[in-house]
Amino acid sequence: KLGLDRCGATQLRRDGQRTAGLVNDSHAHRCRGIRSSRAASRRASGSTSCRGARPRGSRRRAAEEIILGGSAGSAAEEMSYLGLDLGATNVKGALVDDEGRVLAHALEPLGDGAATLAPAAVAEVLARVAQSCVRDWAAVRAVGVGAPGAIEGDAITGCANLFRGARFPVPLAALVAARLHGKRIVLVNDADAAALAERWVGAARGFERAAVLTLGTGVGCGLFLGGDAPLRDVEAGHASVGGPDGRPCPCGARGCLEAYAAAPAIVRAYGDDSVTCRDVVARAASDDRAARAVDGAARYLAVGCLDLCRTLDVGAVVLTGGVARAGPPFLDRVRRHAREMDWTCLPGRADR
Ligand SMILES: [Zn+2]
Repeated sequence: KLGLDRCGATQLRRDGQRTAGLVNDSHAHRCRGIRSSRAASRRASGSTSCRGARPRGSRRRAAEEIILGGSAGSAAEEMSYLGLDLGATNVKGALVDDEGRVLAHALEPLGDGAATLAPAAVAEVLARVAQSCVRDWAAVRAVGVGAPGAIEGDAITGCANLFRGARFPVPLAALVAARLHGKRIVLVNDADAAALAERWVGAARGFERAAVLTLGTGVGCGLFLGGDAPLRDVEAGHASVGGPDGRPCPCGARGCLEAYAAAPAIVRAYGDDSVTCRDVVARAASDDRAARAVDGAARYLAVGCLDLCRTLDVGAVVLTGGVARAGPPFLDRVRRHAREMDWTCLPGRADR
């Protein structure tokens, strides 16, 4: 069963519209605000791409223009926290208050992508996005940086999507701190950062055991199995949902969830590199080829969600990231496939 049985009554009421234990972050109270802020950010950037693509040559201006979410200045009397997210194609930042409310946020594209940039150049972008979010550094209690790859202490020890040709470990926290008034930087894996946020103020709040899948250029996973910290080094994005003869994955293996459910995989399945993942999802209602691409991704993602539920007994699987934000045309298919593959022979089958 897809178990919502671990959550309390309040959570169940809030989850009333969720199906099959697959929780879409758009249904979370707090997260709805963050989502709409992000949508505003995308509108302001003029980009409809789920990769946040933006014309080159305007990088510097980008972060300065896109200060949204209201008054960073008015929060001066409160303590605030700054989160920075280093992705494969852009850097995002958000300043939040004690309760996780977004006070300001910004985004800056990384040109040809983080893989091609040197660590110092990426640190510069992180610092610019930070400066765009913060007006009063004295009020900032802590700064967290989420980054893909393996992380040890203040350094990234390895990542296929970052700093190609650089010498690892890369001391990213120190590089950013040097540009941010010496503020202490806490470096954390990006999927773990997403999971911590969802557990704090998002769709995983109230669940002792929960998985958060980040669906973007890759597929990350943050996993809580009791306790306040996500398990380290979980790579559910590379769970073999397609088997040994499945699609090749960027990691070198075959059949990984990422080879089906990441944004580039959906675009590849559609067969037209000139469109974005969001375009493919938008076309699914009227274009059979798009519908097949989206449905295939949703089906393998449902397998991955069921595997997490059955092997780890998580109470919720939260889907987030650019692909999840494509909305109901994608998420409804994931739920439908999960229901179709759900238990039929055992008692206690979840029918939500
Ligand atoms: Zn893989």
